[in-house]
Amino acid sequence: MSDGNESDPQSELIRSLRNERILKSKNIEKALESIRREDFLWKNYPLSEAYVDEPLPLGGTGQTISAPHMVAIMLEELGLARGQKVLEIGSGSGYNAALLGFIVSEGTKISTQLVTTVERDQELSRFAQENIRKAGLSNVVEVVRGDGSLGYPPRANEPIYDRILVTAGAPHIPHFLEKQLKVGGILLIPVGNFSYQTLYKIRKSIKGKEGKTELTREELMACMFVPLVGEEGYRT
Ligand code: SAH
Repeated sequence: MSDGNESDPQSELIRSLRNERILKSKNIEKALESIRREDFLWKNYPLSEAYVDEPLPLGGTGQTISAPHMVAIMLEELGLARGQKVLEIGSGSGYNAALLGFIVSEGTKISTQLVTTVERDQELSRFAQENIRKAGLSNVVEVVRGDGSLGYPPRANEPIYDRILVTAGAPHIPHFLEKQLKVGGILLIPVGNFSYQTLYKIRKSIKGKEGKTELTREELMACMFVPLVGEEGYRT
């Protein structure tokens, strides 16, 4: 997808993620090209920082847009495909939700709502919603304000999502997120303490003849996310 112009910062970043073998899939590369990180920066934040491979602060909210390499790792590990139903906890700027929306809706003619992203902070949920609207993805991505540690709809016990991504560090795996994952689904979540976590990949499958579901847990890597604050997260 590199068509010669490799000198702008966005293309440079994509190329370096590809060279480092962090970015592997064409659908993710296309999303990183189409959804511009510079459109998700907090007001007056220097545009020159948009494609630096670091987390970026979201004004005075204390929250951050995740670093591009972390975004790429999570998108790759999710194994996303067209038409999947996805839940994201922690909308922040809406950048990652926009990427998810782009990937699962790409090539589909009818734009149905496939991605739900939940944000507890009111200012950020408005910010994310506005950014997603500007990116032209409002039909695909729904921004909800609330405590995503309870899943969405809150406390629903039935399988709803093919993929669930938590972009905040949790003290444990929230019960309702496991419940809301479909068989064959993947849940990615950083679990650990306030500052450091391990990124877990959880898969739900059917075990034996009785049709009981089983969760398998894989440790992917060490990571640092802002805390998940809520009933099934850290209490304030
Ligand atoms: N994915 C975002 C970055 C997320 S930063 C992006 O692409 O910009 C983590 C976000 O999780 C913060 O905005 C924080 O307010 C939010 N958060 C923390 N606990 C939450 C909870 N229980 N429910 C929903 N959002 C939560």
